[in-house]
Amino acid sequence: MTTYSELLASVSTESGQEIFNPATGESLGFCPVGTAADVDAAVATARKAQREFAKLSHEQRSELLMKAADAVEANAEALAELLSREQGKPLNGPNARFEVGACAGWLRATASFESPDYVAVDADVKATVTYRPLGVVGAIGPWNWPMMISVWQIAPALRMGNAVVMKPSEYTPLSVLALVKVLNEVLPENILQVVTGGGEVGAALSSHEGVDKLMFTGSTATGKKIAAASADNLTRLTLELGGNDAGIVLDDADPAAIAGDLFWGAFINTGQTCAAMKRLYVPESLYDAVCAAFVDVVAASPMGVGLDENNVLGPLQNKAQFEIVDRLVKAAVDSGARVLTGANPDYDAPGYFYPATLIADIDPENPLVVEEQFGPALPIIKYTDLDWAIEQANSLDVGLGSSVWSSNRERALEVAGQLEAGTTWINAHGAVDPRVPFGGIKSSGYGVEFAVEGLKGLGYPHIVNG
Ligand code: NAD
Repeated sequence: MTTYSELLASVSTESGQEIFNPATGESLGFCPVGTAADVDAAVATARKAQREFAKLSHEQRSELLMKAADAVEANAEALAELLSREQGKPLNGPNARFEVGACAGWLRATASFESPDYVAVDADVKATVTYRPLGVVGAIGPWNWPMMISVWQIAPALRMGNAVVMKPSEYTPLSVLALVKVLNEVLPENILQVVTGGGEVGAALSSHEGVDKLMFTGSTATGKKIAAASADNLTRLTLELGGNDAGIVLDDADPAAIAGDLFWGAFINTGQTCAAMKRLYVPESLYDAVCAAFVDVVAASPMGVGLDENNVLGPLQNKAQFEIVDRLVKAAVDSGARVLTGANPDYDAPGYFYPATLIADIDPENPLVVEEQFGPALPIIKYTDLDWAIEQANSLDVGLGSSVWSSNRERALEVAGQLEAGTTWINAHGAVDPRVPFGGIKSSGYGVEFAVEGLKGLGYPHIVNG
């Protein structure tokens, strides 16, 4: 079992890019700044190692993933502390310890899935479909759930016999370096590598001729650049991009019963979550009751430095994200919308803390409603006509998640059937599960992760017909 200091020392460098705790401004140390030449070297060694790795059976690769999960658990506390200090998220609540636990959970679940191979057979045909590894997978990730999203990319890629070269976000490189160091205690050499650096290193990886598939999780703007870069090599892509998920409360919901789940649906990871609820539509008949119950949950959810065991909300991870949230809340307030709680951050205090904010009586076209805030500020929009609310929910050019909140499952299903999104949750939001496929539509991306569906995206079907 490694301590936090040992883990940090094993992945940080004497110079390079300095990394700061977004809650305190304290320096954690430095990480290497990679180059396109480092990407070349990593892809070349990955390709070589992958040839042997591909010869392992599904059972053998699953066994490695199981051992990788054990290694994560053996180092869980050190990983969680590093994640908390670098990303800002608290240890407790659905945050750092939860994220490290999810890494182990996703590795085990991915190891346990059936192989996607099958035989298509009837009186006239017999075709054997075998999903072969693609080769070298490039994986580029964001800063909000740096460890868990890395595992979402690594686990299926390895399970299908590929090697992986990762490019973590420049905001959270140490978390990914530490995770990979732990995973590499059990994985064959060079099967999993990391090159740190900024967008230019990501661009070198996504346009690399030796990369057979690129998995990208991040903003829609960067996703479009990656799609353009894929044209030259026809690189296969999975794009998990931004969202602006709507939740719709139906008029038969119980405000007190749903308030806690509404809160975590919107504010998990202090709102910095792709499939978090980013706008909430509430019927006039329940509007005041839902707002009041929601405010009570916010008041009972402490925000502060991650290492304080009491906190469940943390800072924004970086200044740019703080400024986006601040600008959008100001736009809402300037338009005459009502602040139920929050807003008014202390600009002079250390850390990028933005209070959990609920905004009522807001115009449905307000920037806080139609742009992705990716932070702890939720607009609550009043409706009288359910069809109008459904139309509003579907009106944006993104479609990652959505949710319906109701005491009547049949009614909820009926509304869910009309929502345009990759996933619609009922009486929950953002509750991802390794056994259930996940992906976006419209500008939220294409391709599917998790479950056997996800494994299929990391191989190509080879068919023997006859
Ligand atoms: P981002 O697009 O700014 O950065 C993501 C990664 O892309 C980083 O590693 C960055 O260095 C790299 N990058 C930048 N320019 C590049 C280029 N030209 N070529 C290749 N790589 C490049 O995103 P972010 O700010 O880190 O993450 C926040 C966004 O991610 C939000 O919009 C959020 O909704 C989205 N997100 C989506 C999911 C999902 O599963 N759909 C999950 C998490 C986050």
